[in-house]
Amino acid sequence: MDYIANLPPTHVLQEKDAAHHLHPFTDTKSLNAKGTRVITRAEGVYLWDSEGHKILDGMAGLWCVNVGYGRTEIIEAVHRQMQQLPYYNTFFQTSHPPAIALAGKIAQLAPDQLDHVFFAGSGSEANDTVVRMVRHYWASEGKPTKKTIISRHNAYHGSTMAGASLGGMSAMHAQGGLPIPDITHINQPYWYGEGGDMDPAEFGLMRARELEAEIDRLGEDNVAAFIGEPIQGAGGVVIPPKTYWPEIQRICRERNILLIADEVICGFGRTGNWFGSQTFNFKPDLMPIAKGLSSGYLPIGAVVVSEKVAKGFIEHGGEFYHGFTYSAHPAACAAALANLEIIENERLPERVANDTGLYLAEKWKMLGEHPLVGEARICGLVGALELSPDKAHRASFEAERGTVGTICRDHCFESGLVMRHVGDSMIISPPLVITRSEVDELIEKAHRALDMTAADVT
Ligand code: PLP
Repeated sequence: MDYIANLPPTHVLQEKDAAHHLHPFTDTKSLNAKGTRVITRAEGVYLWDSEGHKILDGMAGLWCVNVGYGRTEIIEAVHRQMQQLPYYNTFFQTSHPPAIALAGKIAQLAPDQLDHVFFAGSGSEANDTVVRMVRHYWASEGKPTKKTIISRHNAYHGSTMAGASLGGMSAMHAQGGLPIPDITHINQPYWYGEGGDMDPAEFGLMRARELEAEIDRLGEDNVAAFIGEPIQGAGGVVIPPKTYWPEIQRICRERNILLIADEVICGFGRTGNWFGSQTFNFKPDLMPIAKGLSSGYLPIGAVVVSEKVAKGFIEHGGEFYHGFTYSAHPAACAAALANLEIIENERLPERVANDTGLYLAEKWKMLGEHPLVGEARICGLVGALELSPDKAHRASFEAERGTVGTICRDHCFESGLVMRHVGDSMIISPPLVITRSEVDELIEKAHRALDMTAADVT
């Protein structure tokens, strides 16, 4: 069946979807009762559904389409690579040109201390790799008890067993007997929700120092690493106070713990620098990446490793019994290389820092004055609106968490905008190529959706 030339009517697509497709992060029963929305094409920052509606994609897919849709440079690079070498692996002493070129390119773009790359197929696989890598690193350094990884409640690091265990989502842990052993969680630096009357800077320090207490509790000789997203994305765009990351770094260095920055969302320009660690002023030892690495055109992830960790591995780690059939898939590497060239040539991190990010921030703050919005926070092109019935007291809605967020999300769709909700927070993370006039459109549609939501709930 040619789904491009002969698109069946929406109801047929929905029936077939309901008959055979189990969706990720979805209550399939309620989706099937309602019928899925079918997205059929995309260009720039816009999507079209099977009913012909044009929708501004305020989420860049799943925080990943940094260079926007329809980039022929990437499509042609993949086509050429597919013709030349559609697949080969990098196991057992082989390599291929796109893997070699991409590892070099990532090492050039990554912060100074990070210079070796291990490829995976996704962000989750990158984080699984990180768990095995840091444990293997410490074992090969003669410290096999250094195994525990400290993460944070409400973090998101993927959906595999190790990724979901590193994550701090209680609903995910409740399914499937997670977390796996030797992963613990401390509190997140979420000032709006948990900071009470504290000054944000003081709160940031207090939450960072929970790491020190956790290391004391576990014993320094048992702790391998600390992992965190520079900004927690799926947890609700939790932007930490400026004091947080430098203090985390101080503790990791003083206590001989590896520092892992999960840059799967923040990497490749999202925060106005190439990487979130540069925006928040710290230097990780390991950096899982995915999403913006290929702008989602093909699946690829990686772990970028510091010279110190790589040296330990190379010199006395022996064989690392780990890898994926699609580690460094040639077509995905070609997509990533073409994507990175666009980000570099169009200076997208600089554009976010000095132009569109500033413009969006100004407009976003204006949305913060809406009666339904308790806080409007933003960093580069990633932001959240906290919906609140009483903004002066940062109060939450009495209805089950997420009810008001769902209403607002649906009104966004009706208004031609994709905004995601996390509980009762509304989230944006648009393509980095968004223009000022498209920002105006995003803000106007978000405002309309907030008015419609206010009319429903007040
Ligand atoms: N890490 C972070 C910070 C993420 O946001 C995500 C996905 O949203 C992942 C890891 C998992 O990536 P993937 O869905 O590609 O497995």
